[in-house]
Amino acid sequence: VVCVRNLRTQFGPHLVHEGLDLDLFRGEILGVVGASGSGKSVLLRAIVGLEVSQAGTIEVLGKTLAALPGSERRAVEQRWGVMFQDGALFSSLTVRENVEVPLRAVPGLTDAQRRGLAELKVSMAGLPWKANNNYPSELSGGMRKRAGLARALALDPEILFLDEPTAGLDPIGAAAFDRLILTLRDALNLSVFLVTHDLDTLHACCDRVAVLAEHKVLTTGTMADMLKVDHPWVHEYFHGARA
Ligand code: ATP
Ligand code: MG
Repeated sequence: VVCVRNLRTQFGPHLVHEGLDLDLFRGEILGVVGASGSGKSVLLRAIVGLEVSQAGTIEVLGKTLAALPGSERRAVEQRWGVMFQDGALFSSLTVRENVEVPLRAVPGLTDAQRRGLAELKVSMAGLPWKANNNYPSELSGGMRKRAGLARALALDPEILFLDEPTAGLDPIGAAAFDRLILTLRDALNLSVFLVTHDLDTLHACCDRVAVLAEHKVLTTGTMADMLKVDHPWVHEYFHGARA
């Protein structure tokens, strides 16, 4: 559902991606790992069209976004959901109002329908009913993550892009979030692009892992495959740098 070929992304002289290839296959959860600054978030943003790359091609759901006129592009953009690394919730809106934002683009919905759909997503993300009326600042970090997830689910996406969803959560909260991602993938037939530093999340959720290093996807495979990769960073990371 995502096909990236020969991508080059740079900020002025600062090279982030060079010759980067990546596939996300339908129905899988792909873990995307790499050192801090290796370009994981920039890659996610490039795929969803928020970052402009200097070379290469990006296909999402069979379409090359950069080549599409605005209206067709927006139609494709409605088929994925993104949860950004910093949450990116609107602080002046309640949780329910945040989830309603993407739904405003859907023609023909009444206010009551939009509200009902938003409340459904809030509960699907595992938040209690009363969280609908909370402002982001009133929530714990873990609940804010769930609110971000609810908003990403607003338009019934086919692909979910998650940028470090369990960062900053305690181990039990992180494990609960992992289970939620798995459950949603199975229930909603999602394909998931999951940026994470969390080895537990990789073990719990990911069908496949892609490692970003040296400006590209250095290697992909199962968690078992990763233990056999002969590369200093990959070796140290998967054999537990802190173990
Ligand atoms: P982390 O694990 O810390 O989130 P990351 O792999 O997500 O790291 P990115 O945020 O993708 O890293 O950043 C990759 C590189 O691109 C970094 O060196 C960063 O400083 C640089 N970068 C990102 N966005 C910009 C920007 N808008 N302008 C200039 N440089 C940028
Ligand atoms: Mg990042």
